[in-house]
Amino acid sequence: MAKIKTSFFCQNCGAQFPKWVGKCNSCNEWNTIVEEIIQKEPKGTGRNWNQSTQPKRLSKALKIQEISTSHEERISTNNKEFNRVLGGGLVRGSVVLLGGEPGIGKSTLLLQIALLMKNNVLYVSGEESQSQIRLRGERLEGTNENCLILTETKTQNIFKVIENTNPDVVVIDSIQTLHTDYIEASPGSISQIRESAAELIKFAKETNTPVVLIGHITKEGTIAGPKILEHMVDVVLQFEGDRNHTYRILRAQKNRFGSTAELGIYEMQNSGLREVSNPSEILISEKDSDLTGTAISATLEGMRPLMIEVQALVSTAVYGTPQRSSTGYNIKRLNMLLAVLEKRAGFRLGAKDVFLNIAGGLKVEDPAIDLAVVCAILSSNEEEFIPQNVCFSAEVGLSGEIRAVNRIEQRIIEAEKLGFEKIILSKFNKIPGNNYTIEIIRVSKIEEVVKVLF
Ligand SMILES: [Zn+2]
Repeated sequence: MAKIKTSFFCQNCGAQFPKWVGKCNSCNEWNTIVEEIIQKEPKGTGRNWNQSTQPKRLSKALKIQEISTSHEERISTNNKEFNRVLGGGLVRGSVVLLGGEPGIGKSTLLLQIALLMKNNVLYVSGEESQSQIRLRGERLEGTNENCLILTETKTQNIFKVIENTNPDVVVIDSIQTLHTDYIEASPGSISQIRESAAELIKFAKETNTPVVLIGHITKEGTIAGPKILEHMVDVVLQFEGDRNHTYRILRAQKNRFGSTAELGIYEMQNSGLREVSNPSEILISEKDSDLTGTAISATLEGMRPLMIEVQALVSTAVYGTPQRSSTGYNIKRLNMLLAVLEKRAGFRLGAKDVFLNIAGGLKVEDPAIDLAVVCAILSSNEEEFIPQNVCFSAEVGLSGEIRAVNRIEQRIIEAEKLGFEKIILSKFNKIPGNNYTIEIIRVSKIEEVVKVLF
């Protein structure tokens, strides 16, 4: 009998250790090291993708001039937003990892895409039975007759089905449920995930078949278990949004075949995920009358301009320490802006509770939203509303200066398109073109904005 081989893995980052340690010296987490059995079966028994009957391609070194530069061949997913984020469709032989919190709609998105495609798709689920998937599929709009559904968790069995059915695209839901015979550790453990993923990547590269993997992420936002998985695959997509909101955002965190700046927006409906082609209209909440504490910002999410509503509530603190809470906007940045308002513009916010919310459950990182955040806070604090036809797009610096932001033209055009009449920008922004119908107000300090608004 073969000796059982084990190794120690950090469940947080995937680092491997020869013996148990209390603290992972790779990610500095405590108590994350777990022993896993990595005993491989003796060679020759069982089947793996690398022992298959597929002809092997031998790599050949080429002179740089000899390498053909034709674009990668892509398979369209018939889903515009998904194609956009991928950079034009699934590249043959690529491996895509779709990450997201449990329950956010990753399976729905991929099943919907599998049903919308015209190609042979093999959808492998380790989480749901075939009848459950059929029930879910019936609610979706697509009707791809060439979409095969398989419930299986063992990679060797999946490869057998693949050899018999010859799919154009393989979807795995999810990588955490897979296990391979070559490793003893339980499904979901670091070594299982890594080994199963490695087999699928080898399969994708050798057969030129794109593979899409679903990976659950933890609340902290990392793919559960292996960070290494992100390094192994070609494309990492993140599906995010608030489960209580209907909007979902698809972003590329890594893309070997395209830009990571692209963004896809979906709305969760009973019939699946609807593509949102004009996102600005839905992100601004409908309101009948002028309310205090809201301001609209012309932001850019990736390459797309988005008009986003910022809501703030400022009230006198009931308890000793004032509360600061923020949804969709960095809390540290909020604290910084509050300090700037206090120190540079003389607003007494130190004893006030401040609550901030980005409408629609979005997370915004574009600094151009700063000015709208400041104005929403001031509007609530002063009990003065900001006219509905005004929007903002500028960063606020530590000395209270209003700073320029990139790609201002796109932001102005989007604001104009949605019927805004005034946009407040930094004085330092160079504005290309001059035939705008929207009134452009340029400011350099918070005091000037206050004068314009209130
Ligand atoms: Zn670690």
